[in-house]
Amino acid sequence: MLSIDFVLGICTKTSRCISNVRTLKISYGLVLDLVVKSQFARNMSLLKDLDEKAFQWLDKMAQNTWCRAYFSTFPKCDVLVNNSCEVFNRYILDARELLILSMLQTIKGQLMTRHYNKQKEMDNFVGTIYPKIRKKVAKNVEFANICYALPAGKGVFQVQSRDCQYIVDICSKECECRRWQLIGIPCSNGIACLRHERIPLNLLLPVAT
Ligand SMILES: [Zn+2]
Repeated sequence: MLSIDFVLGICTKTSRCISNVRTLKISYGLVLDLVVKSQFARNMSLLKDLDEKAFQWLDKMAQNTWCRAYFSTFPKCDVLVNNSCEVFNRYILDARELLILSMLQTIKGQLMTRHYNKQKEMDNFVGTIYPKIRKKVAKNVEFANICYALPAGKGVFQVQSRDCQYIVDICSKECECRRWQLIGIPCSNGIACLRHERIPLNLLLPVAT
């Protein structure tokens, strides 16, 4: 998958000045972070107006490899950059300067320590919901305060969130914004509906096993 800095590099080559690159980065972010397909064409046209070459470069890529709105909902993951390998590369930056055997031994030692620390962390873990998930949920719960859910029957709701409107089906755990389907955690719109039905949020969260 594409990293935003990599795209920025391409944009720098195709743009006339730095301020234009910054605007492009924002515009690219608008397309990349999209979760609703209906806004894709509009945001792409914004990008096209800013830089035709950057638009053409992006347009050639398969949309499901760089835009959340087109991601498969099967893996329950909305990560859109190659962060995992970038983190690992940074992690072994010093070791990479060494000779091959010393490099491998250093990386082995680093990984061993990391596994040990993670094991210790998990030994002290209490509860059924992992800390990162808990943070995401807390954020969604906060955003749910500005969502207004209107029931349509059989678990279907129309949710007003700021200027946007979404259809939510709590029985199939789906929201028109696609965030619920993408990561398996109820989005703010979904949480507003669950509140309306007085369904405890914990029942719909992935739990530690
Ligand atoms: Zn939603």
